[in-house]
Amino acid sequence: MNRMRALALAAVVAGSAFVPAAATAPLTMAAPPPCSEEPRENPISEFTSYDELLVELDRIERVSAGRVAVETVGESNRGRDMLLARVGTGPKVALVTAEIHGNEKTGPDAVLDLLDFLGTSDSSRAKQIREQLTVVAMPKINPDGAALDRRGNDMTWQEVQARFPQLATTPPSWNYYTEPRQGDDYSQRPGFDVNRDYNPDLDYQPQPQDFPGSSDRPGWFISPETQAVRDVYRSLQAEFGAVDTYIDLHHQGACYTVPGTDRFVTLSLSGKFVADPASPEGAAYAEFAGTFRPEYSKQLNVAAYNALQAAANRNPEFGNITLYPQDTNLPGTGLGTFQLNGSGAVLFEVRGQTQTLGEEHRAMLTRAVYIGLDGILSSVASGQVEHLDPAAYDRIPPTDRGKQTMTATTDIE
Ligand SMILES: [Zn+2]
Repeated sequence: MNRMRALALAAVVAGSAFVPAAATAPLTMAAPPPCSEEPRENPISEFTSYDELLVELDRIERVSAGRVAVETVGESNRGRDMLLARVGTGPKVALVTAEIHGNEKTGPDAVLDLLDFLGTSDSSRAKQIREQLTVVAMPKINPDGAALDRRGNDMTWQEVQARFPQLATTPPSWNYYTEPRQGDDYSQRPGFDVNRDYNPDLDYQPQPQDFPGSSDRPGWFISPETQAVRDVYRSLQAEFGAVDTYIDLHHQGACYTVPGTDRFVTLSLSGKFVADPASPEGAAYAEFAGTFRPEYSKQLNVAAYNALQAAANRNPEFGNITLYPQDTNLPGTGLGTFQLNGSGAVLFEVRGQTQTLGEEHRAMLTRAVYIGLDGILSSVASGQVEHLDPAAYDRIPPTDRGKQTMTATTDIE
């Protein structure tokens, strides 16, 4: 037990000793049980490592009898292959990416479960998804960060400058980590928050005047990892005309609660990442007004939400789903960038990164991601998504972040 948790428990015990239950005023809201965002060294061996991912993708490809195709679509900064798996022959494409933050590890495992299901199941649901959709999954898009079990990738500004000589005298981008963060020391091994490196202009080339930039500005495609995802997105656009659906899998703080309850949030969803390019706030992206489909993003989120609420009959924790903060303006994220380019977009934010929860609740949280993914794909494949009410999105409960968060609300975690 860490110190903060011990103190919190001590306070609970001390309080109950002095206040007789009968004298306590009725509470309208129960206090959340103790929880800590204090970074710790946690074991992670139950999650799929990079080497295990290679083995598992190879296995799924073999047992799928030709349904799943795995290919290498690039290299990380430290030379690890960027893997992509594709299944289905349908006319609509759904792109799923996971673990752009290397300490957010349920996504790859849920994606592997999904690929295994789609590759091997003869159920009518699996068949319908394979026939109506082409599912393209990139399960570990920051493999260097994943190997270090940390948020940032493993890349120095000097390496960026060597690749882009026009940046030779430019200061590093704002999302360059060189100091401790989430218990990881970047001073000897710097890296970037890769999830701010996307740019809605998919042809963008880095320009010195666009640095250091900021969280509410586009990124630059300076990392090999975002370049690989961008290239996949563009090739899918060329093949299918548009990427119908884009889902990005993350983790968030460990101690958020469902409003009015003491239940920890299992997973938060979002379909809002940038201001509507047709509105004054989104004027900088007016050129994307024709492709932007915010209502479709809401319908996709509702599909995930409904699937999880239905699963709450089996396990109440699947019902603890909230809406991620909606006051974000993040054009440099994959979600913001691809949503502007016309994809319906869904953010999954599972409870607790490895430095807080480690492997705790791993199976349940991975299953929650799987249920949400399956809910979206099934709904798109059946056409049901078109009949979902976008207004139901706005009725998903917001997230109660309490006072226990160390993360700004405008930071996709
Ligand atoms: Zn994240």
